[in-house]
Amino acid sequence: MPLDIPYLEMDIAHLCNLQCQGCMHYSNYTLPGIIPFERGGSWLREWAERVRPSEFTLLGGEPLLNPEVGRYVDQAARLWPEAKRLLVSNGLRLAQNAALLDILSATDTILRITIHRDDAAYLDKLEPHVRLALEARDAGRIRLELIRSDSYWYKTYRGEGEAMRPFTDGDSHASWSSCFNKLCKTLRDGALWKCPPLAFLPLAAEKLNLTAVRDWDPYLAYRPLPLDAEDDALLRFFVEEDVPACAMCPAKLEGTQFRPEVTGGGILPRTQAEASLDLRHWLATIGDRTQRG
Ligand code: SF4
Ligand code: SF4
Repeated sequence: MPLDIPYLEMDIAHLCNLQCQGCMHYSNYTLPGIIPFERGGSWLREWAERVRPSEFTLLGGEPLLNPEVGRYVDQAARLWPEAKRLLVSNGLRLAQNAALLDILSATDTILRITIHRDDAAYLDKLEPHVRLALEARDAGRIRLELIRSDSYWYKTYRGEGEAMRPFTDGDSHASWSSCFNKLCKTLRDGALWKCPPLAFLPLAAEKLNLTAVRDWDPYLAYRPLPLDAEDDALLRFFVEEDVPACAMCPAKLEGTQFRPEVTGGGILPRTQAEASLDLRHWLATIGDRTQRG
């Protein structure tokens, strides 16, 4: 009998077409890689025999850069039909993947588009894709959420690129208590990882020549939960709070957030702003009326 768990997610592409500073999946560093369905699909099948998430998310990187994204959406629906299932995308490839809307519709998978900035050039690029999604939603084809991401954006490390270093606050429990990734158990390489910052750290370290930086040793030594873990280890994995590796993250978020003045974020309300597709108006007025994604 699979263990009921609150949440599970899986990146199906490490590559991204945006470079958001502080990306918790390190995809702003152009990590290479698309997870072929032949590999990733079998990880899902195997883990479906062990866990049954209430909510399951496919994301990345940019998942729409994976040409097999539709197969993943379909597979998740077959394995966990009762779960709330989401595909989280920055939306910028939706028009090129319009057929995906039919698969989202057939599988009742929510499309969540994340909005990362509010500059005009970016919003102009995004708008036709959001328009397409809104039309599909208004026609009753899909369920859609638009989320402003930068309201809860903070960095889990200090510095940038090859100068990236872990925090040194030395209080793993305080770091975990402040953490926005607490629930984000992640399936990568056939194993379950505590969170994206730990799961994708080895890829970032490889890319950014961090493997020889001793500060990262304790965190690169983190080991995920393998598929053949005992039942009690599986249960412990989902109920445990901090682990020693949490010490790499900030103990307090003050000073680590990019846009602390943005208090809202969340789901686009059905307002006149939405009707006019005026994203700039929405971004200017969203305030704290909506919830975090
Ligand atoms: S769009 Fe998402 S995955 Fe891509 S860099 Fe930004 S936060 Fe990371
Ligand atoms: S290592 Fe711990 S504190 Fe850091 S993001 Fe992961 S769960 Fe959160």
